[in-house]
Amino acid sequence: MDKIDIKSLRLEELEDLLVELGDKPFRGKQIYEWLHVKLVSNFDDMTNISKQLRERLKEVCQITNLFQVNKLVSKDGDTSKFLFRLYDDRVLESVLMKYHHGNSVCISSQVGCKMGCTFCASTIGGFERNLAPSEMLDQIYQIQKISGERVSNVVVMGTGEPLDNFDNLVQFIGMLTDENGLNISQRNITVSTCGLADKIKALADKNLQITLAISLHAPNDPLRQQIMPMANRYSIESIMEACHYYYEKTGRRITFEYSLIEGVNDLQKFAHELSHLVKGLNCHINLIPINPIKERNYRQSRSENIQNFKNILEKNRINVTIRREMGTDIDAACGQLRKSYMDQSSDAKAMN
Ligand code: SAH
Repeated sequence: MDKIDIKSLRLEELEDLLVELGDKPFRGKQIYEWLHVKLVSNFDDMTNISKQLRERLKEVCQITNLFQVNKLVSKDGDTSKFLFRLYDDRVLESVLMKYHHGNSVCISSQVGCKMGCTFCASTIGGFERNLAPSEMLDQIYQIQKISGERVSNVVVMGTGEPLDNFDNLVQFIGMLTDENGLNISQRNITVSTCGLADKIKALADKNLQITLAISLHAPNDPLRQQIMPMANRYSIESIMEACHYYYEKTGRRITFEYSLIEGVNDLQKFAHELSHLVKGLNCHINLIPINPIKERNYRQSRSENIQNFKNILEKNRINVTIRREMGTDIDAACGQLRKSYMDQSSDAKAMN
């Protein structure tokens, strides 16, 4: 990509570009609106911009657009999964979830993932590349255009580790919450991380009002190391210290995600250990029945074990909910749609 990725520029950066091109800064605002509110996909649709400037923009810039390759809708219609193709033919997936409080989109932050969590489908094909801010934004824009639904909540919980793509993530959040763009409230954005403690602190220093979700999945290091390789690099102690720092800086309650795997991390003693670990921190625990992937023989905890786990946390006065499963009939586990697409295309290549 040699040309400027115009959809990744903040308003001020776009205004500076217009000045460099010998035009007025207010043109920057007009173009920003075309890209981020009216969601046009090419310069010729910008009807209040002169043909001459449009031609000049085409010479120096390009507009990032994702192309829908596939879409699956759950039987109840509440969940839709989208497979999008990027300019370099790589693919990613995003999910639209309709709740009564509004529509939520789950976006990917990278193509593939290098974190290696043993229960996750996103990591199996390895890491390909970071997504640009424009490519994170366009997942939401395309879903709004295709579904005709307004998106009010965004969760960065799809494929990839958002804090491993830190600068682009921060740029993306700045643009998504810009009043000149989609103007989504910071409080309606959740970023989920497997626990890069140093980056959690750097995010705290940005003083954003977003929700931080930590994929904990185990209350002690040895168990965590069994299921999440990154636990060898970041201890639970360092993650908890970063969480306390995040809370002190932002005042935002932390969410911990805990995916329950039968016989691995769902024992009652781990619920006690977890209660002890988070004591004194304003937080919320989200218990997620694991979504088994075919590459591993992990099984979902039995519902009575999930309930027991929850009861122990509640007795210890920890805020806890069990995540409602949505869209399992359309293969909703992270990265599974992309994975099955890639398997099919490599099968097809092998046959040719
Ligand atoms: N890398 C980030 C965001 C992507 S994963 C992170 O680790 O948080 C989003 C969430 O889904 C994480 O909590 C992850 O642990 C969880 N997850 C991944 N695969 C899953 C599966 N098969 N079943 C249940 N949860 C899963």
